[in-house]
Amino acid sequence: MKNSTNQNKAIFLDRDGVIIEEKNYIHKIEDVSLIPKSTAALKKLQDAGFLLIVITNQSGIGRGYFSMEDVHKVNSHIQDLLKKEGAYIKKFYIAPETPDQQSRGRKPSPAFLFDARDEFNIDLSNSYVIGDKLIDLECGWNAGVKKAILVRTGYGKKTEMENQDKLKQAIITDDIFEAANWILNNEE
Ligand SMILES: [Mg+2]
Repeated sequence: MKNSTNQNKAIFLDRDGVIIEEKNYIHKIEDVSLIPKSTAALKKLQDAGFLLIVITNQSGIGRGYFSMEDVHKVNSHIQDLLKKEGAYIKKFYIAPETPDQQSRGRKPSPAFLFDARDEFNIDLSNSYVIGDKLIDLECGWNAGVKKAILVRTGYGKKTEMENQDKLKQAIITDDIFEAANWILNNEE
């Protein structure tokens, strides 16, 4: 008999504009700045039993602006910053292709969410996506997550203005901290 309580639940997070400030094509650790209260938000979600998983499109690699190694360095720097406050990203999934290149994982593809589901025994229907672009949310919808949340940080405000209709099925919050509060209230 399938017991759904044996499965994990996760928060699938976009990186740039959600956890760290959006700056075009970040690839140096000195350019990383955490969005205010993002660590606290992640810690809260983690304490509530969610795995934290980052799904990030990094077309700067495909464009030749920087390397996968640069992205790993930035990610491990972010991990270090979060760890200081007790939050931990279970895994970073990275799509290096440009929008014009063939890609299995580039959002809005749900492929990495399916990979994470299989790798960490995640119940996607009890998981959430938080992003600042429509493709982040579409990735979640394509994977069948419980709810996709748009934050107004990063490209979020622009996304909100340009996609009123498509965002009817989304939750919109000011930032990741408010998104975390929404999720935790929704879980009660
Ligand atoms: Mg983003």
